[in-house]
Amino acid sequence: MARSLVICAQQMGSAVGRLLNEQGLAASMSQLRHASSHAENTNTFLREALNRLDYPEKLQNLLLTPRREMSVELVVQMDNGQIEVFNAYRVQHNNARGPYKGGLRYHPQVDLDDVRSLASLMTWKTAVMDIPYGGAKGGVTVDPRKLSERELEKMTRKLVVAIKEIIGTYEDIPAPDMNTDAKVMAWFFDEYSKYKGFSPGVVTGKPVYLHGSLGREAATGRGTTFAIRELLKALHLGKLGDQKYVIQGFGNVGAWAAQLLWEAGGKVVAVSDVAGAIANENGLDIGALRRHMSSGKTLASFPDGAPLKKEDILTVPCDVLIPAAIGGVIGPEMAAKLQCKVVVEAANGPTTPEGDLVLRDRGITVLPDIYTNGGGVTVSFFEWVQNLQNFKWEEEDVNRKLDRKMTDAFNALWTVHREMAVPLRTAAFVVALQRVTRAEVHRGFD
Ligand code: NAD
Repeated sequence: MARSLVICAQQMGSAVGRLLNEQGLAASMSQLRHASSHAENTNTFLREALNRLDYPEKLQNLLLTPRREMSVELVVQMDNGQIEVFNAYRVQHNNARGPYKGGLRYHPQVDLDDVRSLASLMTWKTAVMDIPYGGAKGGVTVDPRKLSERELEKMTRKLVVAIKEIIGTYEDIPAPDMNTDAKVMAWFFDEYSKYKGFSPGVVTGKPVYLHGSLGREAATGRGTTFAIRELLKALHLGKLGDQKYVIQGFGNVGAWAAQLLWEAGGKVVAVSDVAGAIANENGLDIGALRRHMSSGKTLASFPDGAPLKKEDILTVPCDVLIPAAIGGVIGPEMAAKLQCKVVVEAANGPTTPEGDLVLRDRGITVLPDIYTNGGGVTVSFFEWVQNLQNFKWEEEDVNRKLDRKMTDAFNALWTVHREMAVPLRTAAFVVALQRVTRAEVHRGFD
């Protein structure tokens, strides 16, 4: 083991630039065709990048295998006096580059496989963004809509008690994810601090008034906008304001991206949410739409947009298509029907490996999720730094630093994309794998 890793360290430099041979491409394509679940999809994309590097199998296994998986049961007395038991997980995938970092998801379909795959994705995302973290993820199998706020708080506090020995400001720093928000993070911070002393840096995504960061709420949508700007520049497609956009999902990420693109002069010609979709060829007034929705009205009832079947959102003609809702929406059939120049993956995992192949064949550029939505974890990192400094940065400062991080990361993956002649997604995984491997090898294995 030790010997092959030494060999690996020597081989790294030359191997990284090598193009995939015919056989490797065929193998990787056949892996792509058989992938199905989210976990498999992540590993399929990752293995495709690994195929282009010449790492020994032992190192590959080391990079793919989580360091620690913790499963716990949270026993909670509900408001009606009944006892409920919830399964919870924390998977720590890799910490070669820094403390483990990753969100906490509350969802009825969360299982260990899911959390494992998401933890791995965080390792690659923090590496692509070049922030000094590894990757982790947590989840509780629960439908939070069925719990009262008090029950949710109790469950969160039980979770902290159960995992408190493996998390910490310099060990593993959770954050919000699906169905967890700033309030949940505040409970988390409070409970952890009861056991370990004042520790605002143990979680990120806290309320701004409770050690959170200015700019965090908009960070993923803003980062997506910076990412699009860089991609357009690299492809010589013009400026943000010259484009027509279609956005699936009008939640935190989709609505912020829409707002910023609209402010930059772009035309957002169609948007959707879980309940409906609207379109306007001349561009929707996003400011008015957000005011409409914040007054409690539905997206579909916005008067200045023509109603559209939400299933049709992805095929509306545009320059830039932004899936910003859920995973798996661009499979092979949908990929064949898209009418856009580029797909910008603001959501996690919107394109399946099979869909990705079709897009490649059609010459549609895909800006991958592990880069595009990395603005969220980047500003989480800024929040953590502010917590360590006991200092609050101004919002312009946060946004400026985010811009720099998104731009630098784009340049790194664009360079690999050009030099190795690989799709941007593969380039992103190659950049991440090189950074993690370099850290693993230089830290040593004894
Ligand atoms: P959110 O819950 O705020 O919004 C999700 C939006 O998608 C809502 O408008 C919802 O109505 C819509 N939606 C759900 N199902 C849909 C469907 N079937 N068709 C159309 N629209 C649908 O979530 P968010 O925070 O905006 O996250 C969106 C995506 O971005 C997710 O994939 C998430 O994992 C990813 N992401 C978010 C962040 C972040 O900082 N919020 C960071 C990284 C990645």
